[in-house]
Amino acid sequence: MDLPQIEQKILKFWSKKRIFEKSLKQRKSAERFVFFEGPPFANGLPGLHHLEARAFKDIINRYQTMRGFLVERKAGWDTHGLPPELEAEKQLKIKTKKDIEKIGLAKFIEVCRKSVFIYKKEWEVFSERIAFWLDYKNAYITCANDYIESLWWILKQIWQKGLLYKDFKVVPYCPRCGTSLSSHEVAQGYETVKENSVYLKFPVKAEPNSYFLVWTTTPWTLPANTALAVGENINYVKVKAGEQKYILAKERLSVLDEPYEIEGEFLGGTLISREYDPLFEMKLDKPGYKIVAAEFVSVQDGTGIVHIAPAFGIEDMEVGKAHDLPILMTVDEEGKFKEEVAQWQGKYVKDADVEITADLKKRKLLYKEEMIEHEYPFCWRCGTALLYYAKNSWFIKMTAVREQLLANNENINWVPDYIKHGRFGEWLREVKDWNLSRERYWGTPLPVWECAKCGEIKVVGSVKELGKKLKDLHRPYIDKIFFDCPKCNGKMMRTPLVIDCWFDSGSMPFAQWHYPFENKERIDEGLAFPADFICEAIDQTRGWFYTLLAISTVLDKGPAFKNVVSLGHVLDNKGQKMSKSKGNIVQSSEIIDNFGVDVARWYFYTINQAGDPKRFDLKDVKDIYNRFFGTLYNTFVFYKTYVEKNFKPRKNFKPKNILDRWIFSLLNSVNLEITNRLENYDVVSAARTFENFIGELSNWYVRRSRRRFQKPESAAEKNEAAQTLYFVLLSCAKLAAPFIPFLTEEIYLGLKRVRMSESVHLCDYPEVDKKLISKTVEEKMVQAREIVALALAERAAAGIKVRQPLRELRIKNKELWDAKELIELIKDEINVKEIIFDETLKEAIKLDKKIYKDLKEEGVIRELVRQIQEMRRQAGLIRKDRIGLRLETKDKNFQKVFAKWEAFVFKETLSEKFNEQKTGKPDLEKDFAADEVKAKIGIKKIR
Ligand SMILES: [Zn+2]
Ligand SMILES: [Zn+2]
Repeated sequence: MDLPQIEQKILKFWSKKRIFEKSLKQRKSAERFVFFEGPPFANGLPGLHHLEARAFKDIINRYQTMRGFLVERKAGWDTHGLPPELEAEKQLKIKTKKDIEKIGLAKFIEVCRKSVFIYKKEWEVFSERIAFWLDYKNAYITCANDYIESLWWILKQIWQKGLLYKDFKVVPYCPRCGTSLSSHEVAQGYETVKENSVYLKFPVKAEPNSYFLVWTTTPWTLPANTALAVGENINYVKVKAGEQKYILAKERLSVLDEPYEIEGEFLGGTLISREYDPLFEMKLDKPGYKIVAAEFVSVQDGTGIVHIAPAFGIEDMEVGKAHDLPILMTVDEEGKFKEEVAQWQGKYVKDADVEITADLKKRKLLYKEEMIEHEYPFCWRCGTALLYYAKNSWFIKMTAVREQLLANNENINWVPDYIKHGRFGEWLREVKDWNLSRERYWGTPLPVWECAKCGEIKVVGSVKELGKKLKDLHRPYIDKIFFDCPKCNGKMMRTPLVIDCWFDSGSMPFAQWHYPFENKERIDEGLAFPADFICEAIDQTRGWFYTLLAISTVLDKGPAFKNVVSLGHVLDNKGQKMSKSKGNIVQSSEIIDNFGVDVARWYFYTINQAGDPKRFDLKDVKDIYNRFFGTLYNTFVFYKTYVEKNFKPRKNFKPKNILDRWIFSLLNSVNLEITNRLENYDVVSAARTFENFIGELSNWYVRRSRRRFQKPESAAEKNEAAQTLYFVLLSCAKLAAPFIPFLTEEIYLGLKRVRMSESVHLCDYPEVDKKLISKTVEEKMVQAREIVALALAERAAAGIKVRQPLRELRIKNKELWDAKELIELIKDEINVKEIIFDETLKEAIKLDKKIYKDLKEEGVIRELVRQIQEMRRQAGLIRKDRIGLRLETKDKNFQKVFAKWEAFVFKETLSEKFNEQKTGKPDLEKDFAADEVKAKIGIKKIR
């Protein structure tokens, strides 16, 4: 079995016969099953996790196609945002926004545009190789003018609903990229870090040696401090420790690491408006450096007194606005201290933390330091630690549609289901307004124009509204469009921002069709919206899954998708994330080239539940290759060997033999089960059901039917078994075609007769024939196999080989005993002469393990037959070759036994008496030993 080689052959077949195109064409006027492709970035290479997601997408799309639906599969490319910008910076050997502005935006975005498709070819080749059928010819591209125009239309809808607004807010900000990020972007990049935290002494004004004790993890924000916050109803204490006095929450006394005496206890409310001396004296434009009350203050950690720097914390800003505090912007857009902080001017803030701490220590304003471990957000694209930073940004008011988001989520089927109200539901309940604007270059321009004089705003919702033709809607060209203000005589300029590229991908249901400028009916008549099915890895829960829902919800279009499969991440075999730096990345080519795509796909379908993380181990892949694929392939080879030649399938074949009736019943039960599972997007159970069936087919049906194929009593007997195996294998090929498209195609083509579809992927999915299902037959077979298992276990425990016949087995199950065909099967399988019904048994069975003389003889003879067969194989003989057989032994008794069994042995081994004078010496000689018997066997091919 060389699956990779078979796959190459099948790939050529598909491509030459255009099977994918035909599979769509033959469903042209069928009802649609809508699938959305989450667009990847083509400026990175596809990895193993892409294989995982694509395997899960493909199986459902193929299944629904075979079920009779038209499943259009428009490919898509994500093209905007930081990935191409970072690539362009690398190519141009520049680093900062200033550099970009120096070389000019026009040149910069040209390099971005070109970098977008660096690996497009690789992606297409990869998809084809893994049999992920996708329509690349009509792919949507997020940087195309038509796509951008649809995004503008959507943004204008949002504006008209009053949900698009500008605000001065503290937002997560990447100082390297020079832009703010949205909460779903921040959610992509949390990491656990160890950092120094500090306890600080803020001197109480006009009270020497008295301090407010304050805790912070960001010393760099201290120069921007303008207030301290307490909880109005929290209990505080003033303590005396040595010469110093400290004020802190009573419940946080444990932070003191020296003896103290409590001098007084009071509520936080009594501290309000008390003043303190700042750690760094700054010029304030209004009153500050005082105690204020804030609801978020807790006694969970720290001291119960919180340092407030309105410019650098979301809650700080809220407190600042509520109490009209001064806002100190001490840091520039590159994350460096401005001249106001002369001591560290030009220094990157995170690098200044240590020096700030040392300075405070020198001035005896540091109480103590403490290492802490906490979750901190990093830029999901460039890995820089994010800062919280006050900025003017444009937001979508997602908080206004929280209820609709939650209601729409109720109509989505999640796999696994716990994500619906867990990871995703929690996210929606806590939904934040969407920080949409980015201070970058290569992105969809925010279509907002603002009057420099009166602040009037115009949002453009189409290219037509620009009043001018633009070849390219990107910056810098769009920035040269101006409007006259309708309110005053001022000039309106575009706000020089681009938008979050997650808005691009979340809008794909509409923008991929250039809605509403074209293809209006596709959306409005439900032909291409909502999606019946989407599937990506779990990190998209708060990424693409969210933005799809967010945009369809603000547009009042309901949920964008009905069913979503969220996949577990692919980790290394120790459960670690795969990464370049750890050197533990497994390339998908390692699996594909050695084992084949089908094996990789089957690995993902069966290794664990779809939503669970996968600890990827090549050992598991090898095991699947040998076990499942070996079994399936060998069953097919068995068919090829014993049936295919001169065989004609009968249309109205009705199985009569118990094994035939059983396997047909099981096949249809399994067909029903797989169909039900797949209808519920439970790929894993469906695949496992099929895998079990192949085990039954090979280890029971084929094995128990072997004689009918190899030594049938009549041509009719063999034909019956052959009809069964043919139809079962054909059904298997169709049932498994969506999962393992290559091997099933190979099997199908090996079974195909004239007037059948030219590919298994052009067939309909098998319909269940309920008439063929007999639960009684299936149950009885289970009982029979339980008896077999018990008897074989007894044999094994007593050390009696199965080849040694035994006299009798008593069983207690009357119904089973009445099923004579099954009793014959059991007799054969466990090699007993008789099965007797015995209702007095305490156990289910009783096996007579005594080896009687005649049985012992027979056992030796069977062992002899086995060895002769083995010698025939060694001599390279085929089934039809006749041999001369010579048996030499001094054992008189065995000579007699052999004489008695001679005819049987000759028949079983296709041999006759050896005649040396006629044929010459044997081809092969071997010693034979069984029990006390010793002999020498010689064989010779005679014709
Ligand atoms: Zn960044
Ligand atoms: Zn104006």
